[in-house]
Amino acid sequence: MGYTGLYIHIPFCVRKCAYCDFTSYAGRESMFEPYIGALERELGSYGAGDGAAADTVFIGGGTPSVLSAELISRLCKSVRTNFELAERTEWSMEVNPGTVTEEKLNAMLEGGINRVSVGVQSFCDAELRAAGRIHSAQEAYNTVLGLRAAGFENISIDLMASLPLQTAESFKKTLGTAAELPVRHISVYSLIIEDGTPLKEKYDSGEYPEPDEDEDRELYRYTGEFLAGRGFERYEISNYAAPGYESRHNIKYWECTPYIGAGAAAHSYTGSERYFNTPSLEEYISGGGRRMGLERLSENDRMSEFMMMGLRMTAGVSYAEFMRRFGRDLRSVYARELERLVPTGLLEERGGRLRLTPRGLDVANPVMCEFML
Ligand code: SF4
Repeated sequence: MGYTGLYIHIPFCVRKCAYCDFTSYAGRESMFEPYIGALERELGSYGAGDGAAADTVFIGGGTPSVLSAELISRLCKSVRTNFELAERTEWSMEVNPGTVTEEKLNAMLEGGINRVSVGVQSFCDAELRAAGRIHSAQEAYNTVLGLRAAGFENISIDLMASLPLQTAESFKKTLGTAAELPVRHISVYSLIIEDGTPLKEKYDSGEYPEPDEDEDRELYRYTGEFLAGRGFERYEISNYAAPGYESRHNIKYWECTPYIGAGAAAHSYTGSERYFNTPSLEEYISGGGRRMGLERLSENDRMSEFMMMGLRMTAGVSYAEFMRRFGRDLRSVYARELERLVPTGLLEERGGRLRLTPRGLDVANPVMCEFML
């Protein structure tokens, strides 16, 4: 049986963070129940006929932990009813500090969730306030300890670099605190100042100085070395894990393998087509806007994506897998790029794979873009 990844989007948050341009809405508590009802119907459509099978499930957002314990239970039940889950399914849910209760944690455990990703971002209160987060550093710390005490063993935390008011010193302190906690996985993303966000206005008005790119690079290198010394290996540009705790769900995205996305604004990928649901809550709840956008990917699109996503991982891409998918030799499709980039020391060929070197990972974006056909 072919197992897919299943992503479920919960587009609700207590309040919008100052930097956020994701599809998530604050102040829509009255829609929680009808939204879960609509999700049950969408998930039910996969359970009809032969049914679908998943070996990774990811409930993301937004802030899935704003849902009540009862709604979390209903959602988990709907997943189990409509999808045949593999024996060792990795089932993640995102939580944000300030929205977690013991009752919700019990509902998550009973529902089958076995991995939790906590949006910490920083362990410095001034930075959290400037980013518009709803929680303090202490609450974030306690949330992680509370998850461990409740019985979750596979905990991941998200941190951010280049936050407003953040200094090299405060970032290093945050990283040190993160590594002391009982977590198996750490993601570190650099802040992107998106148009239309309150933070963008503050940067435009000069209230905060623009992030210094050289310092950002320096902290990126520091992060890799520091976390390696604490037992977390980088396996993707922004992701670090204890051995065996890499996110199997996210690896599906980077390996361009099929996944189903359920919920408002969720995307699905079949291997040759991508489609997405409406971002409108009203339309989604009323049963419309499913699979509304459809993008057919050409072979060139698929080869480009395979390379650009695969090179994000430190393991890189496999020549054999490229041949299996496209019936073509990677070395001949990308002959010119390899001839130019391998001698620069940014890319290396080893053990039947092509990957970015540590120096290449430092300047990953322009190198990956070279593989766009
Ligand atoms: S918690 Fe996440 S999804 Fe919600 S507003 Fe903040 S950054 Fe956006």
